[in-house]
Amino acid sequence: MRVLVNGAAGRMGSEVCRTVQSSSDLHLVGGIDPAGRGLLTGVKTFTNLKEALEAIPVDVVVDFTTPHAVGPSMETCLAFDVPMVIGTTGLSAAELQEWQVRALQENWRAIIAPNFAIGAVLMMKYAQEAMNFFEQAEIIEYHHAQKLDAPSGTALRTRTLMQEVSNKDIPIHSVRLPGLVAHQEVILGLPGQTLTIRHDSNNRESFMPGVLLAIRRISEIKGVVIGLEHILFADI
Ligand code: NAP
Repeated sequence: MRVLVNGAAGRMGSEVCRTVQSSSDLHLVGGIDPAGRGLLTGVKTFTNLKEALEAIPVDVVVDFTTPHAVGPSMETCLAFDVPMVIGTTGLSAAELQEWQVRALQENWRAIIAPNFAIGAVLMMKYAQEAMNFFEQAEIIEYHHAQKLDAPSGTALRTRTLMQEVSNKDIPIHSVRLPGLVAHQEVILGLPGQTLTIRHDSNNRESFMPGVLLAIRRISEIKGVVIGLEHILFADI
């Protein structure tokens, strides 16, 4: 598969480039960096997505950019009929819903996951299950100081999943500090006891197996799939 990485010079994008390049079944055909910073040796750099899609054949675009950049990139990929694997967070629930409708109408495909770490997907699943048994819950998410959006996409997704089983108010607290990568605790309470479910991404390698899985499964989905759980637990 020919993979193009949008946001290729960023923290996540550069890790995705290295991971794709070392995967024997995938071919890194290029990366987009608006500032034109050089990427890995032998990998072509473009300064915008449209220019790249006009220049080279691509099977999937992987997007780790910014909340402002991701929407226009989705429009471009839709116009070129190239599917996407999207890790960028910050799209609102309403925007995600609109994209789900449009993608089905226009026969376009994308996997959007607020968190590609397998452990984080399990944290969300267990938090949803536990919500059946607890009266109150709160979410604390901890991220590095450069993160642009708050609350995190993972915290919002966790709350959505928990509210599917019990429509209670679930406050989210956001911590931004140097030294952190991506961490989350879901604390559920009942009189006399609490249950804490915690996940830690200690480095960006933690997200790569999930990104590779989404790239390899992109041709099997229909429309926009939100959440890696649909791929991991095979209900696509
Ligand atoms: P980052 O280091 O700031 O990287 C973002 C990159 O995108 C930067 O190099 C930026 O370039 C570039 N960019 C900005 N506008 C662009 C455009 N129009 N076209 C192409 N590239 C553009 O951020 P990060 O830590 O890698 O995170 C990226 C996104 O992934 C965030 O939304 C974050 O929340 C999310 N994330 C998701 C997961 C997950 O598992 N789903 C995990 C970690 C992070 P400039 O620096 O020149 O602006």
